[in-house]
Amino acid sequence: MPTVLLIEDDDESRRAVAELFKREQWTVYEAGDGESGIDLALKQRPDVILCDLLMPKANGFQVCRAIRQKLQPTKIIVISGRDYGVDRASALDAGADDYLVKPITWDQLSATIARVLPDMPRTPSAATEFPEFYTPSTRVKIWGVRGSIPVPGAATVRYGGNTTCVEIRADGEIIILDAGSGIRPLGQSLEQEFAGRPIRLTLLLTHTHWDHIQGLPFFLPAYNEKNRIRVRGYEGARAGLAAILAGQMETQFFPVSLRDLSSNIAIEELKEMEFSIGKVRVTSKFANHPGICAGYRLFTSGGSIAFFPDNEPYDLLKVHLAERDQTSLDEAREFARAERAKLVEFLQAADVLIIDTQYTDEEYQKHIGWGHGSLSRVVSMAIEANVRRLILFHHDPNHDDDKIDDMLQRARLLVVESGKAMEVEAAREGAEIWLAPR
Ligand SMILES: [Zn+2]
Ligand SMILES: [Zn+2]
Repeated sequence: MPTVLLIEDDDESRRAVAELFKREQWTVYEAGDGESGIDLALKQRPDVILCDLLMPKANGFQVCRAIRQKLQPTKIIVISGRDYGVDRASALDAGADDYLVKPITWDQLSATIARVLPDMPRTPSAATEFPEFYTPSTRVKIWGVRGSIPVPGAATVRYGGNTTCVEIRADGEIIILDAGSGIRPLGQSLEQEFAGRPIRLTLLLTHTHWDHIQGLPFFLPAYNEKNRIRVRGYEGARAGLAAILAGQMETQFFPVSLRDLSSNIAIEELKEMEFSIGKVRVTSKFANHPGICAGYRLFTSGGSIAFFPDNEPYDLLKVHLAERDQTSLDEAREFARAERAKLVEFLQAADVLIIDTQYTDEEYQKHIGWGHGSLSRVVSMAIEANVRRLILFHHDPNHDDDKIDDMLQRARLLVVESGKAMEVEAAREGAEIWLAPR
């Protein structure tokens, strides 16, 4: 829990500020004059000190000097009723990290704390009112459909060239699945829709391969301090989620660092395989894909949506590996069967399944072990799981619109041959799927 020390002789205003911090789960220490403030600071070593300027026993400048000499890491923010440039300069000279003029709001405070203490988890204002939007039912909107790399141009104009991004609106939540380049137009659309009002949303990441995070630095709502963005995902194979997301925005790669984004971004590593986003329950399952990669199933009041943008069925893969390594074929088949059964169970009766069908069956033969799906294996698995609507996804960057048409036709034929009823679509940018509450 972060700690703050408030040094302020006006009891009433000190208590009001203390309340703001307590509401945001901070541990709060209070001192009513400069001297006791210095003592308490040295004893408690808080993360942040908020210090008044004009106080008995020791003024704010003296407090800053005394504390700065002995406590390097503690950040000091001077809060004053006066807005003289000379006061500000003197306070910074004396060791303050920032200077704010009263009256102050929580938004100002939390933005200042985020600036002076960038590693501190940011605590957006509980008092901020996030407007409700009207969700008569669950809406799935597709903003990015590709794997690997964006492929704009005439050949992909119908299905789209952006990498992975899907938006879910359900039960008062905005949930974004992955931040490929499709998140850029989504961000523009959100800012337009909310027209200056704050946006609260959750970005759920399946994994941190580039095609699933490369749009984040171009996500407009991340640049606006009114917004509150919660990023959730599992830890990567070699580094934590926050470190990976910050990594792609380091100066070698991008002019703005993650910590400089002005919105309230909280990055949370998922530990559990079941959690909630507001009223939406989410279950997860790790995918068969290089590194750490998850798939999710979101249970909304309108129905459930499963999202597995990158996943390779085990069926042929295990047999291929057994043949290569001359290990038991029976064991390989048994392993693949068991894994398939687990996935079928996880996806059972999903209303919508958006899943990796990057390769045709023929192409897959040359890409076994690359971590992506082949059409007929995925379709048969979805049929077995009684999925209502299958969305072919993570289109290969080499597939033009006509090729995707062919794959869609092939998938529909497989469904007809199975005698089952399952709708199949190929993911297309801008497409919306509405699920009505049952
Ligand atoms: Zn991918
Ligand atoms: Zn991937």
